Amino acid sequence: MNIHEYQAKELFEKFGVPSPKGIVASTAEEAGAAAKTIGGSDLVVKAQVHAGGRGKGTFKNGFKGGVHLSDTPEKIQELAGQMLGQVLVTHQTGEEGRLVSKVMVAEGVDIERELYLAILMDRGTARPVIVASTEGGMDIEEVAEKTPEKILRQFIHPLNGLQPFEIRKLAAALKLSGDQAKQFGKLLKNLFTLFIKCDCDMVEINPLVVTPAGDVLALDAKFGFDDNALYRHPEIVEMRDTTEEDPREVEASKFDLNYIGLDGNIACLVNGAGLAMATMDIIKHCGGEPANFLDVGGGATKEQVSAAFKIILSDPNVEGILVNIFGGIMQCDIIAEGILAAAAELELTIPLVVRLEGTNVAKGKELIANSDLAVISADNLNDAAEKIVAAVKG
Ligand code: ADP
Ligand code: MG
Repeated sequence: MNIHEYQAKELFEKFGVPSPKGIVASTAEEAGAAAKTIGGSDLVVKAQVHAGGRGKGTFKNGFKGGVHLSDTPEKIQELAGQMLGQVLVTHQTGEEGRLVSKVMVAEGVDIERELYLAILMDRGTARPVIVASTEGGMDIEEVAEKTPEKILRQFIHPLNGLQPFEIRKLAAALKLSGDQAKQFGKLLKNLFTLFIKCDCDMVEINPLVVTPAGDVLALDAKFGFDDNALYRHPEIVEMRDTTEEDPREVEASKFDLNYIGLDGNIACLVNGAGLAMATMDIIKHCGGEPANFLDVGGGATKEQVSAAFKIILSDPNVEGILVNIFGGIMQCDIIAEGILAAAAELELTIPLVVRLEGTNVAKGKELIANSDLAVISADNLNDAAEKIVAAVKG
């Protein structure tokens, strides 16, 4: 799960990570009022979407830039008016872009240096890793490609946590000394606490800036949370903005289904992530293209199977469905009932291949064979993949 920059600021404030004051607005007038509240003549207005690269992005109406500096509330109001309700395209949004329905007005900050700071979970070492670079404010992927020596990684021991010597090492690498190094140390310590306490899988500050006055501040924020730990953080779940997510994935998550949309035309409905991966592979092996990854989980109910079918069928690219279920906790006859009920209710017109194996498989197959729906039964994974690929091509 991701959150917006203005929401990230709330977490920054709570954990003591310094960042400029910001106020969210949904209309140009609200943005103007927010600018007056913030005051001064250094103001910035920023499009709020779950994607980076806003500064260099372009709106579909031709307006350039999702981040603008200005000196009066009137100008901020006008700029907000140009962004709100428009679609912003950045290198992270894909060409379809993202609709901007909120902007954040913030204090503009004088910048002396832009740095990069992130904390991620590293799968390889199973530890948090702090990534830092003097090359902030730019596309970090590009820095990593062209000048990898400018990116520093500090792996953190999961039990010992962040150590003072590690902070000093990072500060030195970022060419921070004296009071700046002290401020950085405090900020990083608090950011690390936030990362662990909130079960983040990513926090990225690009840029972390040093001001001419010598202060160290977070100017941007991108957060990712571990979905499996969200139950511990109702206040973070509250921040979820489902309009930023694929509607099919939002619908799937309501029913505890793991769904990821893909580009092909053969939909898969499978129980278990490993089986789902194998099913997608074998579809490809047989010359087809999977339309999605859909794992209904080990103990899928009839309601979940029905919801899964609805989500699959809402994709206009889907020309056939392959159901591959291994009955363990879940019994094949229950699944068969669910499939038949959903197929009948949704008046399925595209080919449906079903492969069942495991507990009560004979009963499940019998139900399918005896139904008057045109369901193609398969005996094994390979047979199932060949049948659905042939049915879709035919
Ligand atoms: P994105 O990464 O999506 O482009 P940022 O928040 O990083 O968005 O903003 C882009 C650039 O705009 C920053 O690198 C920084 O130079 C400038 N900027 C952002 N916020 C402020 C601010 N509060 N004051 C001054 N400049 C800012
Ligand atoms: Mg940025």
